[in-house]
Amino acid sequence: MVQTPQNVPLLDVNRDNRPHREEFIEALTEVVDSGRFLFGPEVSALEEEIAKYSQADHAIGCASGSDALLLALMALGIGPGDEVIVPSFTFFASVSCVTRLGATPIFADIRPDTFNLDTDHLEQLITDRTRAIIPVHLFGQCAEIDRICQIAASRDIPVIEDAAQAIGAAYHSRPAGSWGLIGCFSFYPTKNLGGMGDGGMMTSGDAEMADRLRLFAGHGMRPRYYHQVVGINSRLDTFQAAVLRVKMRHLDDAVQRRSAIAGRYMEWMEDQQLVGEDQITLPYIDPNAFHVWNQFSIRVGGGQRDAMRAHLAEQGVGSEIYYPVPMHQQECFAFLGVDGSDLPETERAAAEILNLPIFPGLTQEEQLRVVECVASFYQKSARLAA
Ligand SMILES: *Cc1c(COP(=O)(O)O)cnc(C)c1O
Repeated sequence: MVQTPQNVPLLDVNRDNRPHREEFIEALTEVVDSGRFLFGPEVSALEEEIAKYSQADHAIGCASGSDALLLALMALGIGPGDEVIVPSFTFFASVSCVTRLGATPIFADIRPDTFNLDTDHLEQLITDRTRAIIPVHLFGQCAEIDRICQIAASRDIPVIEDAAQAIGAAYHSRPAGSWGLIGCFSFYPTKNLGGMGDGGMMTSGDAEMADRLRLFAGHGMRPRYYHQVVGINSRLDTFQAAVLRVKMRHLDDAVQRRSAIAGRYMEWMEDQQLVGEDQITLPYIDPNAFHVWNQFSIRVGGGQRDAMRAHLAEQGVGSEIYYPVPMHQQECFAFLGVDGSDLPETERAAAEILNLPIFPGLTQEEQLRVVECVASFYQKSARLAA
């Protein structure tokens, strides 16, 4: 009998969580019994663990990665007339934090190899209205954060790292979130440290800034019912903190698995001769970076990305496009009037990128099927061309 191959999901959260089920139940039960659902020792313990893990002196929990970015800009007092430089090739939240406060996002292009901020373009975009730079450590690999911080420091501009996809990543062995004035993390379930709901964290090496971030995250209230600034309500709840503390214990192991999967993809795709200008471009690893592989992102050349994705879907292999529409082309940002003529690599990446399944529980057999399906796409198109 012929066995029908199983589908390969893009991500299977249950598979990654199941081995730790007892630990989750135990941790959550403790919270239920404690009766403390906001603040409490779990939240401060997680803050300490993240601060230590990220080699930052301070960490402040908040409700999401999006809020972390927004709070960072609020604490810096950014508003109308201010410019914030940010890549266009990113998730919406890296940019919405800027426009929400009435400031203007200035879009930087990306490097074609890492998909991260192009530092030469960044330098050209700095004006006397630039109030912050938000580099994004996309897909789990740090942007050239040393150079970015140098450029920013020479002009006294604060750097806010969008490390939502990059907890545990490093550049020159120094962790994401410890380079800029503020680091922003997300615990959205698909992130490397994913919760069972929303959550976020801000890190800072500056005690005064850390204090301001905490003030803004708590209604700007200090002491109780006395409001110093107009803050928001953004808290990491205790259930999430309990879950995340369990996951913290297994984070390094999960990253090792992701890294092994990435290594095999690259080896097998090379072996199958799938790599080439008209075929696939593999992810590039910056030699200074420690990559934590939140995503495995290939380019599909020759204008075949969407056909490849359809082929994979037909074969039951999950894939996703992060991100199909760069921020300067979003309807909600049309009012900015950015035409994209100086963002060529951003637009090319949006047209070519394809993200393949990578999660700690992905098996070798499943991975083999992904590679076989990618290979069969080219055999099929070779037949069609013949
Ligand atoms: C996920 C993500 C965010 C937002 O995090 P949430 O916790 O979902 O609000 C911000 N920036 C990037 C690059 C992200 O991937």
